[in-house]
Amino acid sequence: MAFSEFQGNVDTVNRLREMLARDRFPHAMILAGPLGAGKYTLALMLARTMNCLDPKESDGLPDYCGRCENCRRIGQAEDLDARFAEAVEAREGMRDTDKRETRILVQTHPDVMVVPPDPPQMLVKVDQVRQVIQTVRYKPQEARRRVFIFTDSAFMKEAANALLKVLEEPPDFANIFLLARNPGELLPTIRSRCITLTLSPLPAPEIERYLAKSRPEWNERQRQLVARLSGGAVGRARTLNLEEYMTARKDALLLLSTAVRSAEHSDLFHTTETYRAGGEGKEKTDRLLAAVYGLLKDLMALISGAPELVRNTDITAELKSLAAAVDFNWIAQATQQLGHVQSGMRRNVLRPLSLDAFALALER
Ligand SMILES: [Zn+2]
Repeated sequence: MAFSEFQGNVDTVNRLREMLARDRFPHAMILAGPLGAGKYTLALMLARTMNCLDPKESDGLPDYCGRCENCRRIGQAEDLDARFAEAVEAREGMRDTDKRETRILVQTHPDVMVVPPDPPQMLVKVDQVRQVIQTVRYKPQEARRRVFIFTDSAFMKEAANALLKVLEEPPDFANIFLLARNPGELLPTIRSRCITLTLSPLPAPEIERYLAKSRPEWNERQRQLVARLSGGAVGRARTLNLEEYMTARKDALLLLSTAVRSAEHSDLFHTTETYRAGGEGKEKTDRLLAAVYGLLKDLMALISGAPELVRNTDITAELKSLAAAVDFNWIAQATQQLGHVQSGMRRNVLRPLSLDAFALALER
């Protein structure tokens, strides 16, 4: 994979490559953008370009070969979920004393360190930043530049303060990337020491074209749906589990239509019964609630006369008939009830009962 494979945001990507070409790449950079916009993919591409042993050019700008030892090993970090899971599993296997002292880091190349948020709190912790501080001042061993990639902007306070020290005077050979869905989450003092570049969401037709190549098994209708559900994020579009989504949405529709039409309840009870306790049931319920929320947003779009914002484009007719039966107040109430269901889930209220109560409370 080289830069030609990166989807969208051509101007921003070219700007970054120009900085590399002129050897004026900032030491600390915030890459902002929504989940799935390609922040991590781009950071790893830049890390490879900085360190490729057989540097390439494309469109007159620096590129990487993807085959040399440095490219290959840095590229192994691409599947972040898998590497993260391995690191967590390795820590779980340790003795308790070691476990406490071990922080999750992903390092497939000695000079490129990826710092994900540390579970269970899923925040970047001070010990992780200390690892960065310990390494940052040593010259790279096998690469030209040391690269640090923080994959999330959620830092514990102490960790953020420690990071500030690194950003005060990073050595010449070090590059630090902070990937942020919401840069506002970072301390202003951190932001002021970084250059911020933002990856924008992609227009739906662009994602559809991409999906036509990457997910040929989906038909046009499915591609349109996924492009809208992804909110303009290529990564989300590529990895969306359409089958799971369709199952969740079918139940979500039943839940809403039972409420709106005060229909016969037996179908509803039959369905909510399948939402069981335990981890698997939780994931299934989370997907259902997300689907309900998405449908409510679509209904809101229809009621406010903005049908172009509807994301579940394949069931527009059904949504229109539901929208005709509800008003703003109902949707507001439903959204609030949904919040109650979610907090009930956290308190382990029985899932089927909680879902039934949701539908019954909203009956017209
Ligand atoms: Zn290379």
